[in-house]
Amino acid sequence: MGLDVSTLFVANILVLVISSLAYVSVFARNQIDRYWLYWIGANLVLAAALLAYLVWPDLPVHLAVVPDALLVLGFVLRHAAARSFADRSIRLELFALPLLLVVAANLINNPAATFGLTNVVLTGLAVAVGWQFWRDYADRLFSRAGLVIVYTLMAASFAARAGQGLFVGDQIQSYIPYDVLLEIHLLVALIHVIAGSLFVLSLASEISANALREAARRDPLTGLLNRRAFDALLADKLGRDDVGLAVVDIDFFKSINDNYGHAVGDTVLKVVSQALLQAVGTRGEVARIGGEEFALVLNAVDAACTGTVAEAARQAVQDCVVRYGNHRIAVTASLGVSHVDYAGQTADALLDCADQALYRAKASGRNVCRAGQNRSWNSEHRSGFPPQNTKYLTVAS
Ligand code: GH3
Ligand code: MG
Ligand code: MG
Repeated sequence: MGLDVSTLFVANILVLVISSLAYVSVFARNQIDRYWLYWIGANLVLAAALLAYLVWPDLPVHLAVVPDALLVLGFVLRHAAARSFADRSIRLELFALPLLLVVAANLINNPAATFGLTNVVLTGLAVAVGWQFWRDYADRLFSRAGLVIVYTLMAASFAARAGQGLFVGDQIQSYIPYDVLLEIHLLVALIHVIAGSLFVLSLASEISANALREAARRDPLTGLLNRRAFDALLADKLGRDDVGLAVVDIDFFKSINDNYGHAVGDTVLKVVSQALLQAVGTRGEVARIGGEEFALVLNAVDAACTGTVAEAARQAVQDCVVRYGNHRIAVTASLGVSHVDYAGQTADALLDCADQALYRAKASGRNVCRAGQNRSWNSEHRSGFPPQNTKYLTVAS
């Protein structure tokens, strides 16, 4: 092709070093993300390997395997980086690969076979790194697809060289054959390091932007949707489909705080949140819309089904008892329920209707569900206090 191999080596080395510097500056801003250390280490080791190939093109086999081993180490570090990036544990056993390669090369003592073996290992590692990105494709992030493509391209190039080493080995006289395949390979490597570095940086920023967006929608204590997300959810659903709404308010919650302390009150809030999530299941979403107030937003359900889920939620809260030392803390909640069909009301009207029903539930003695005025459904079911059929949950005292 007539490309200058030395220039391609230098370009690859420069891009690897420059992208390491970019990673250092990102890591310096947020040192919790320790995966950047692996990306930095990988790039510097790969740059060292390429520098060795460039400076010493004629090493004897037993020494020539050192830059090969560095290349393998660089990809093992990238594999560690990709796993750590996805919060997966690092495969420490892979760090033995470079050493095994050095031992194998000295046992084989044949440039072509060593060249083929090195590239088989590198093909496997490039596929393994691409696989780490592919595994999380459910988030549909553009940069993730880009990374899968650049690692697949790199793996294909390593595979071509593995074939060259294993099947046309006689032509390989030095440990790194200077031929057209090397030019193509270095060009692919250059595309890989440029595009790979950009995609890694943009994937990290897309993931952290998503995490921030998600954190802004969540209540930190319970992990449920917060009030802002609830308002947006309700506005989004209204006018498109039937919506069922239940407002849940824990009964006499202030006395739980007064008797057992705020921390136990917080635990009760978390336990109740889990009970509500379980009761709603896949039929809708649960939000914490106030201190001890929750909302169940049910998708495409009719009024009767809304009532049934609300009653199941009331029962689920009643079944939760938090144990504090020798005390058993019984918890109950009152619910106000409203429902609207797709042609229906505004979010304010729906919420107002549920609030009025909740007020009546409180007035009629608590631990009960009441439906909004526009519906005939009502739960007359109310059990004694403290309730039967209780689950025990332990709180550190
Ligand atoms: P009712 O049956 O009429 O609903 O009585 P209540 O005691 O549940 O209602 P009230 O509005 O009098 O008290 C609510 C309490 O919830 C007061 C407030 O201190 C407490 N609270 C609000 N947010 C939190 C929180 O995040 N953690 C804890 N532990 N308590 C909270
Ligand atoms: Mg309240
Ligand atoms: Mg209350």
